Amino acid sequence: MNSPFAYGSNVLSFCPQLSLLMTEPAFGNGSPAVSSILRLRGLTKTYREGESDRAVLDDLEATIDEGEFVVLMGRSGSGKSTLLNLVSGIDLPTSGTVEIGETDLTTLSETERTLFRRTHIGFIFQSFNLISTLTVAENILLPLELSGIRSGQAEEQALSILERVGLGDRGDSFPDRLSGGEQQRVAVARALAADPLLILADEPTGNLDYETGRQVLTILTDLVTDLGKTLLVATHDRMLLDRCDRVVTLHGGTIHDGAPDFLESSSA
Ligand code: ADP
Ligand code: MG
Repeated sequence: MNSPFAYGSNVLSFCPQLSLLMTEPAFGNGSPAVSSILRLRGLTKTYREGESDRAVLDDLEATIDEGEFVVLMGRSGSGKSTLLNLVSGIDLPTSGTVEIGETDLTTLSETERTLFRRTHIGFIFQSFNLISTLTVAENILLPLELSGIRSGQAEEQALSILERVGLGDRGDSFPDRLSGGEQQRVAVARALAADPLLILADEPTGNLDYETGRQVLTILTDLVTDLGKTLLVATHDRMLLDRCDRVVTLHGGTIHDGAPDFLESSSA
């Protein structure tokens, strides 16, 4: 059988150590549903600069509700990537807390944070970050299998999401055979495939030309809206301002409601 998923059930064999990280999520368990999915409290991140510390994020407070689509704006260097890396548990804050569902990521070990991220967060990077030695189908299957989904069901979910991003016939291809826009569509499919609690995107169109970027954003936002997912996306693209529920701007280390002033002053 010439299925793009012929090797799917062996994806874990590429990274056997990852299967050790599969355990149950640390939240849920019959407690009452919370409407906010993300809560940031007193979030501070400082970097050492010469003899002193510089706060990129400074006592930042923010909440995102379940199903919300939030656009994060701010000048280059304002700390958008720093913030997304803290929300995803890739990095740890200097102080403050990052609560997702009922889990405070700052109380977890590095291994637990990695597991949490793989199971509950879909991250779309500017540079796609597909695994070049895995096919498109395998790239999508990997997080599904890591989250403990049986291989038959994982293949079904992967094919379905691949079709939703218009690449149902490219499962056998390796990423370097795809255009930038197609690779980012695979990354969108990968981020959504395991039905994560929260989807984060860090300038997902930053490496794409304008038109291709818009196509990717349309696919991402249509999917997120259809599936009722929660999305926090850092972008400079004004196209999303009309589609999102809320725009926030990172400035001076904290979050402010609304689009940044420089967008208004540069609009015709
Ligand atoms: P943005 O994504 O909004 O462009 P970043 O979060 O990448 O901003 O960076 C915010 C600031 O933090 C920048 O001044 C950057 O130089 C600094 N920064 C980011 N990562 C590090 C690091 N690992 N060490 C020191 N400074 C850093
Ligand atoms: Mg950035």
